[in-house]
Amino acid sequence: MSERSYFDWNATAPLRPQARLAFETALLLSGNPSSVHAEGRAARRAVEDARQQVAALVGARASDVFFTSSGTEANMLALSPAWETAAEKQACDRLLISAVEHVSVRSGGRFPRAAVEEVPVDVQGRVNLTALAETLARSKRSLVSLMLANNESGVIEPVAEAAALVHAAGGLLHVDAVQAAGRIPCDMAALGADLLTLSAHKIGGLTGTGALVRSSEDMHLADPLIRGGGQERGLRAGTENVAGIAAFGAAAATARREREAEAKRMLALRDRLEAGLRSIAPQTVIFGLGAERLPNTTLFTLDGMKAETAVIAFDLEGIAVSSGAACSSGKVQPSHVLAAMGVSPALRRGAVRVSLGWETTETDVERLLSAWRKLATALSKGQRGVAA
Ligand code: PLP
Repeated sequence: MSERSYFDWNATAPLRPQARLAFETALLLSGNPSSVHAEGRAARRAVEDARQQVAALVGARASDVFFTSSGTEANMLALSPAWETAAEKQACDRLLISAVEHVSVRSGGRFPRAAVEEVPVDVQGRVNLTALAETLARSKRSLVSLMLANNESGVIEPVAEAAALVHAAGGLLHVDAVQAAGRIPCDMAALGADLLTLSAHKIGGLTGTGALVRSSEDMHLADPLIRGGGQERGLRAGTENVAGIAAFGAAAATARREREAEAKRMLALRDRLEAGLRSIAPQTVIFGLGAERLPNTTLFTLDGMKAETAVIAFDLEGIAVSSGAACSSGKVQPSHVLAAMGVSPALRRGAVRVSLGWETTETDVERLLSAWRKLATALSKGQRGVAA
């Protein structure tokens, strides 16, 4: 058994060996991908090969993939009022987001604050499609941004149904697929996504690499976030992160190849984990249980538990879990996702996220359960110094 059991894959997944190899190989390339000489062409080849691999993960064409520095940057780039299509040049007047989006989407991108509207979700955290349709009807041309799977609960959003509503209203749909990619099918056409965000470090690539993918070459943006040397076909200037992009490509290719088998294995482990959590402490609440969820994510709590204390207790047992979203865990912010699902403040305070990945084993799950037994027992005995 390894020293530690890592259950925080939704924050960052370990580097896949294939991505490490691609990274190390690309580090030896000395050229700038924009240079015309042989060294430059070799670097360009590494970037373009990766573009093909990333495109294949979401059923897109390589020429529709734009590399960015992160999922966050891809979201920022997507959330611009100025996206034009061949048929529609009018700027979007509203940004509609669900109430459970990642903070990078909640920031509103380049929309004025007053133009951003939040659409409510149901108790499972799924966007309310009736409310979405009503909100769409009040706008001239909306950009709608929905996540495919939630980073905290793993709940899968009804994106294809939403896409039909958005398109019928003449709007555009951006899909944040950062958590879904590599775990469930993410075909852009099947989802009806006009724009889609990916992040390399969630699928076994490196932190600091992401991509925005568009549905077709008809989609144009006149105001890129970063202007300069015209890289990424003018949409994202700056010399490409060649080695990071090469690793992203290898991670995407592996994720695509292994997705089905990995998902099946993770689901069996996740089911065992959830059954164990509840057999040890029958009052355990698992959020989003009635909805379709990612095969690797469990967000749970027990009355009286405090997430920060639980995370530390697990950590001392050699287990890495998280209290909701990684971005807010350092700041100990109550989860806006659970608030939107109508969860009481007391239960929200205790929500712990366990997320699995391709290296998670049965031994890891059993180790987590035995730590849970200690924690739940301490809680039930009211040992507040330990668990509350
Ligand atoms: N979107 C979602 C749903 C995420 O979970 C995250 C990261 O946790 C991001 C976007 C941001 O991605 P990155 O860490 O690459 O900036």
